[in-house]
Amino acid sequence: MGNAHSICSPFAEEGLAVIGQHEVAGAGDFIDIVPKGLSPTGGRLAPVRSATFGSLSSLGPVGHVASSDLDSQGLGQMCDAFELMAKRIAVRYRQSAQLQGSEAELQIADGVLGGVAHQLRRLQHFKLRSNTWQGGEAARWLNIFTGNRKRFKNLAEIVRKVQVENRIVKHWQGHALLGDKDPGSCQSLCSSPWEVPGSGKLDIDSWDGVDVFQLDKECQQPLAQVFMAIWQTRKLGQLCKAKPHKVLDYITAVESSYKQNPYHNRLHAAEVTLSSYYFWSSLSEQPGFQDYFTEVDLLVWLVSTAVHDIGHPAVNNDFLVKTKSSLALRYHDRAVLENFHIATAFELMKEKGVALLDHNMPSPPSSSLRNRVVEIILATDMAVHKSLVEDFAKEVQRNKNRQDIDKLLLEKTFVHMADIGHPLRPVVQHQEWATRVTQEFFAQGDREKDLGFTPIPLFDREKATSMAKSQIGFLNFVVAPTWAAIATLLGTAALAPQICLQDNLRVWKAMAEEEDAVAKASAGGS
Ligand SMILES: [Zn+2]
Repeated sequence: MGNAHSICSPFAEEGLAVIGQHEVAGAGDFIDIVPKGLSPTGGRLAPVRSATFGSLSSLGPVGHVASSDLDSQGLGQMCDAFELMAKRIAVRYRQSAQLQGSEAELQIADGVLGGVAHQLRRLQHFKLRSNTWQGGEAARWLNIFTGNRKRFKNLAEIVRKVQVENRIVKHWQGHALLGDKDPGSCQSLCSSPWEVPGSGKLDIDSWDGVDVFQLDKECQQPLAQVFMAIWQTRKLGQLCKAKPHKVLDYITAVESSYKQNPYHNRLHAAEVTLSSYYFWSSLSEQPGFQDYFTEVDLLVWLVSTAVHDIGHPAVNNDFLVKTKSSLALRYHDRAVLENFHIATAFELMKEKGVALLDHNMPSPPSSSLRNRVVEIILATDMAVHKSLVEDFAKEVQRNKNRQDIDKLLLEKTFVHMADIGHPLRPVVQHQEWATRVTQEFFAQGDREKDLGFTPIPLFDREKATSMAKSQIGFLNFVVAPTWAAIATLLGTAALAPQICLQDNLRVWKAMAEEEDAVAKASAGGS
């Protein structure tokens, strides 16, 4: 306690009064603070005395707000106090020379600020738990910032996080007050103002609930149907600022922009969107992933998957580069198609005037969501498949606490899995996808030959191995390793896709053996 003075002064500068300090055995030094000028004893602020915080000298664990009796004034003051506390710690650490390259110091600061965030959650809980539905909603939104317990990159980020939480608490306090005055407001917010014919009936939550080939036969708009079914089921209209008719307008335009290719078409877009949603919702329900995701994350996945192959010309990056296409020139031969899909999607968004990534939450900013969409789509490039899968496998192995898994890496890998995931579908559907992709590859091979290039065997209808054998290679060496890391996280939700994968492999192997037997017989007979 020798440095009590140095502990007190920074708080005083920030308008906080230290009202006591003590040591907790094995847990370090603690100090009790309240906003300056408030009586720490008597009256309604008395419970504040029991709030304890990690001191700057030891940065020990953050203490406990014991009271459930804080009124709204006390709550606001406590939130402000937490915010000042966070600022002060950030300033201290920035000044500290020890910070340079000291991982341990950052970890301590991380822990302390994590405690501050925890106290904020407790405070809003005290305030809102007895109120209407907003209590649960507020807690859910708060998890955007606190639930994933991610490591902070820098101290500015820590401060920002606490400030944002503060704003959210105030935001929901405002809602709670409004709700008291106008009991009808909840109803008007919850009920959907529009319906998309058919989309409400789709069974999007089970792995074999929707067959996109069937859906396409019925409505010719499988992507819009799947997209809007997810949108409505998850009530994304309450989160997203875009008007419902604008969202529908945009996704319809996206769907029309997919060409009628054998494989890279609107059905593939619907399929990838559907699979990703299954992964997202299943993962959200796994014990280790509680509060890891919010609907803002779903918005990112949904937009990324729906647009990820928009305008695909039915040839791959290699073709575009070696034929010196205008697209390859525009994107410097790098991830040509992926860049094109991203740019096309955002140009269309601008043209249609639909703010699909603008949402009602104070944070994260929509620019960061846009960046995630860009990163996710760039990671669908097969050129980064190997490094992506390896990085993710390591990340999963390293983080036994699932909450620590890097979210962007996870979402890139899951969307990539969905993109190459047709072998996880029932045999009949997978056979259809395999036939279509082979058709598209051979058509490219034909064009290459016409232009004087030599296609790789996979694209050459005269030199390619049988579909069975090439699919066995694809399933064993591309799909299975990607699926392995993902399946470990999905719990029982991995079973249905896993069974399909095994079925498909068995079918292809039987076909390959049959081919070999026929070839052997004809060779023996000649
Ligand atoms: Zn794709």
